[in-house]
Amino acid sequence: MAYKLDTVCIHGSGQRKEIDNTGSISFPIYQTAAYAHPGVGRSTGYDYSRVQNPTREEAERIVADLEHGREALAFSSGMAAVSAFMELFRPGDHIVATDDLYGGTIRQFRLINEKNGISVTYVDTSDLEQIRAALQKNTKLIYLETPTNPMMQVTDIAAVSRIAREKGCLLAVDNTFLTPYFQNPLDLGADIVIHSATKYLEGHNDTLGGFLVMNREDIAQELRGIFKTIGSGLAPFDSWLILRGMKTLAVRMEKHQENALALAKWLQTQEKVRDVLYIGLDEHPGQEITKRQSRGFGGMLAFHVDSRETVYRVLERVKLIRFAESLGGTESLITYPVTQTHSDVPDEKRRARGIDETLLRMSVGLEDVQDIIADLQQALG
Ligand SMILES: *Cc1c(COP(=O)(O)O)cnc(C)c1O
Repeated sequence: MAYKLDTVCIHGSGQRKEIDNTGSISFPIYQTAAYAHPGVGRSTGYDYSRVQNPTREEAERIVADLEHGREALAFSSGMAAVSAFMELFRPGDHIVATDDLYGGTIRQFRLINEKNGISVTYVDTSDLEQIRAALQKNTKLIYLETPTNPMMQVTDIAAVSRIAREKGCLLAVDNTFLTPYFQNPLDLGADIVIHSATKYLEGHNDTLGGFLVMNREDIAQELRGIFKTIGSGLAPFDSWLILRGMKTLAVRMEKHQENALALAKWLQTQEKVRDVLYIGLDEHPGQEITKRQSRGFGGMLAFHVDSRETVYRVLERVKLIRFAESLGGTESLITYPVTQTHSDVPDEKRRARGIDETLLRMSVGLEDVQDIIADLQQALG
């Protein structure tokens, strides 16, 4: 009997690997660098923690099960996962990517991929024609974020996977925003799923982590080799924090979504708010695709206000809501994309996407939504 999603968050789809015999309910933290060998030429299956660690493997098992993947790899951060993934590609390769990508991923592409001879074309991937037009002879990967950060654009994953299949290239989806609780890109034809576990998977704004999840055995093997070579695997204690965080993923995501929807509706009634970008609103252009490919809308929203003065006023006056980068934790955070997450994106590109000096992004936390609203109300003034 297959477990339901809420159960998988806590137990995975099957039995955990029992390594000691204490019956410990919480998975033990194997805080060790090395493991003793029982004899010459023999191994317990564990030699060195860069390569194998039981706590990390347990976190990988749960994430693989949540994403319906065959295998997952746990990294020290989301960016460590992205940069390890890029080691699959060679000089001369080409990538087509969503133009409204997470700023750190754009930096990876510009600072490291370019130097390694891997070129990237950015397009609005919510428009399939733009993807088709950007394909080159040497295109090896289509890289999506959906919904995007911060403009909340939605891309049809299944449709793009058909384009990737025709082209014979890979499709990767960064699933950080909706999490496997609301969306499973592998089921829609993606080859690789990427996570910043720093966000909703861990969920408490207190550690970094990242995952790559895949179904194809050849890709898994190659990435496992890269993983143990470059050594950016997740530490045992951080693996445990993410394991603990994921146990409550289901209840947290439901509440994040409930709060975000209530806040989005309230924001729409505010005089100083120009438009509200939340995929859970009926008028959001990506809602129809979202309803087809996802089970929910998540807890991220963005909004434009009437002026830069209002932005400064809000950022300086919020009390309960903290003015900080990051997202996906219990605490509500407000971000100013122009100076924070998207400061590395050239000005004219930012503007063309609507990321201007009047845009604010919010990660709606798990506080009582009336308290969140009251804080924003006094800050908007
Ligand atoms: C935060 C984030 C990343 C990078 O993850 P880190 O854990 O900060 O390294 C990648 N993609 C998205 C969508 C993110 O929000």
